[in-house]
Amino acid sequence: MADCIFCKIIDGQIPSKVVFESEDLLAFEDISPVAPVHLLIIPKRHIETLNALSPADAELIGKLVLCAKNLAGEKNIAEEGYRTVMNCMSGAGQSVFHVHLHLLGGRVFQWPPG
Ligand code: AMP
Repeated sequence: MADCIFCKIIDGQIPSKVVFESEDLLAFEDISPVAPVHLLIIPKRHIETLNALSPADAELIGKLVLCAKNLAGEKNIAEEGYRTVMNCMSGAGQSVFHVHLHLLGGRVFQWPPG
């Protein structure tokens, strides 16, 4: 998608601090972190929102979650705990319309979220 920030990051048109890359995923540091660890994990294929997922995407989304688990281990937040977030649509706070999973850690989180 020509006007998608995350597609431009995948293409290298916008710089990012990449922490993981595979054939179908990219993970990088969030530009405005809200926790000591704040990573974004995205599919390389442009999917606007969770609403656009189909059963054929089950493996891809599974890989996304497993990537979060692996990065939590690498960042040493697995034992203390971490939060994964996928905002869907503006009402839930989605501001970039390319599916992404936030991996947040390194501090205590409240529940329910705001
Ligand atoms: P959301 O609000 O759930 O759509 O999350 C989008 C996230 O993308 C926000 O946490 C932003 O800080 C982050 N973000 C936006 N532009 C960039 C960028 N160029 N590099 C890294 N993270 C970004």
